[in-house]
Amino acid sequence: MPGPSITFLGGVHEIGGNKILVEDGPDRILFDFGPSFSDRWEQFYINFLQPRSVSPVKDLLEFDLLPRLDGLYSADALAGSDLPYKAPEVHGLFVSHAHLDHAGHLDLVDPEIPVYVAPGTKQLLDTIQTAGTQKYGDHDWRVVPDGTRVQIGHLEVEPVPVDHSIPSAYGFLIRTRQGTIAYTGDFRMHGPRAAQTHAFVEQAASEKPVALIMEGTRAGPDPRRNFSEAGVREGVDGLLEKSDRLALVSCYPRDIDRLTTLYHAAREAGREFVVPVKTAHLLTSMAPTLGPQVPTPGRSEGLRVYARSKKKTFKWERPFLDDAVDAAYVGRHGSEILLSLDLPHFAELIDVRPPRGSPFIHSMSEPFSEDDVDDQVLHNWLDHFGLAFHQYHASGHCAGPELAQVARQIGPGTVFPVHTEHPEEFAGYGPSSLPPVKGERYPLRS
Ligand SMILES: [Zn+2]
Repeated sequence: MPGPSITFLGGVHEIGGNKILVEDGPDRILFDFGPSFSDRWEQFYINFLQPRSVSPVKDLLEFDLLPRLDGLYSADALAGSDLPYKAPEVHGLFVSHAHLDHAGHLDLVDPEIPVYVAPGTKQLLDTIQTAGTQKYGDHDWRVVPDGTRVQIGHLEVEPVPVDHSIPSAYGFLIRTRQGTIAYTGDFRMHGPRAAQTHAFVEQAASEKPVALIMEGTRAGPDPRRNFSEAGVREGVDGLLEKSDRLALVSCYPRDIDRLTTLYHAAREAGREFVVPVKTAHLLTSMAPTLGPQVPTPGRSEGLRVYARSKKKTFKWERPFLDDAVDAAYVGRHGSEILLSLDLPHFAELIDVRPPRGSPFIHSMSEPFSEDDVDDQVLHNWLDHFGLAFHQYHASGHCAGPELAQVARQIGPGTVFPVHTEHPEEFAGYGPSSLPPVKGERYPLRS
């Protein structure tokens, strides 16, 4: 019987798109399954040019954007492709968290294959699906609370929570016949759940793993400014204290930690926090699984919902509309409001008419390249309305020195860097590292 091995089918020399196959004898399980944020993807698919819904696997295989793996895809997804349908040969798929680059290809997977997720991740995927165009497909969902040990043949998987910029993120301890593999998922040490990451690292270290699969989004040169979540709060507090005008902010739509930070900063400054209907829907759906710190529409004082002028409303939007505020209200009460407004909805500024000099807080990653088109458009709008740009963001990922510290503390036999454009950086992190080659099988040696 073949011994345990790891094969990296995605997330190799690219950020996102992790697809990690772990095998032990006849048992095969996969960790994460989403598209990457790679140049390769954007060389072929961009904006409205996307794989056809009638032949998604065919259109992605054409450019090597998906692995050619037997017994993984559904018959529907394989339509038109030269990869024949086979009954499941993968016995479980574990999703580390609900971000697109880890879960976004679930809709291509055979519905017979069990999909293992945290309770909060299942809730997030359902919410995202209800309020958007992303589909995850029907599956044999297995909702696993942290600490649950899942046995699949010779393999035992224990999900362990870590801190990331979305709630309910997991790392994993995968126990094989040749020892333990630790997989970090996406993780950081400077968010509100940093203690979870420290506990994961300690638990992983105590098992003396033969292999550590570690994300390295921020490995290598990164000139972008980064704060801790507490640092973001401090920066926003300072701005709101100084300003007597409407304040505006953009953040990632599912960064519930940031929404929580912004809500409390607004309240501290005596302002209402006004959020899009989609954010209100997310916070309401997630409220039962999150702590009391997280703002909830209808329950949290000073949290208001902004209704954009639209011709058509969706069913999921309607519960929030009766009590919603509009551009005229925001314009009138400017100095008492922090308005969350994302770039796709900047046309609302034409009605809101913020006074010149109003602060705009960019609470997302800075663009990596100088010719980023979205960034140029954002700045055109800010210039047009005379808004003052401020950057306050805490990344969802560990900085390079933190990655080195984690690698040393866990002290595995081999570190496999994934989810990074700079796997070569890991050579300086202490334990011996092996930047994986896509599609190659790495046998475990204890
Ligand atoms: Zn990711």
